[in-house]
Amino acid sequence: MKLEIKDLHASVEGKEILKGVDLTIGQGETHALMGPNGSGKSTLAYTLMGHPKYQVTAGQVTINGESILGLTPDKRVKKGLFLAFQYPVSVQGVSMFSFLRAAYNNSRPAGTELPTIFEFKEVVAEKLKMLSMDESFLNRYLNEGFSGGEKKRAEILQMALMQPKFAVLDETDSGLDIDALRIVAEGINKVSGPETGSLMITHYQRILKYVKPQFVHVMYQGRIIESGGEELSRLLEEKGYTWIKGYKEEEQVAPSAP
Ligand code: ADP
Ligand code: MG
Repeated sequence: MKLEIKDLHASVEGKEILKGVDLTIGQGETHALMGPNGSGKSTLAYTLMGHPKYQVTAGQVTINGESILGLTPDKRVKKGLFLAFQYPVSVQGVSMFSFLRAAYNNSRPAGTELPTIFEFKEVVAEKLKMLSMDESFLNRYLNEGFSGGEKKRAEILQMALMQPKFAVLDETDSGLDIDALRIVAEGINKVSGPETGSLMITHYQRILKYVKPQFVHVMYQGRIIESGGEELSRLLEEKGYTWIKGYKEEEQVAPSAP
């Protein structure tokens, strides 16, 4: 099973942000998507999930050969897609537990028998343990007053429950101190089985020491301008994004100048 993105163009409020993205993620693969701020990484994540503000103007996104572009976000979730947000929203009055249960129940394919509230509690308890999270988490309002680390752990808890086929993690490492980073990274490793394909969007190389990608891509100005193995992330860390920007700009200018 594959998530295939082909020549994807997408606009926000009439402005083209994604200008032809090509990327294929197979089950069991971990890809890192790096790139400077404003290059379109979050736009790609939102576009994949079907956020109504992001309009696809050209290209294709398929899971197992079937287009998902006509589907609403909830239907994409049922196809096995999951997004961990860069900035998770907080919702006063909605407990973590009821949120997780609603999200879980709505993500199951039609016709699946849903767990009772007691069965679900057991499932969640097991995942909490795996992520070294306290059960009191469940009684708190969704992300309300959560620290940066707690918010990111709550996202990974959702991922653990959903067991997605394809997970997009948008800067799950941002705002974490080194201990929280390790716990979150270990959580990601525990919840990504051989069936999961993941796209780790990150600005820094540090999380990639814990969650090892087989493929690293660099996005710049709405396109993937470079792909390689893990060594590419180390090269970027060493030389910075200006290195790759400069190198690519030179390359593009020469042959296409009128
Ligand atoms: P990254 O995640 O790589 O930092 P983004 O995808 O957030 O980049 O942003 C890429 C570009 O798209 C930026 O120029 C940003 O201003 C613009 N953009 C993204 N989302 C919106 C939005 N909802 N409304 C207007 N502009 C947006
Ligand atoms: Mg972003």
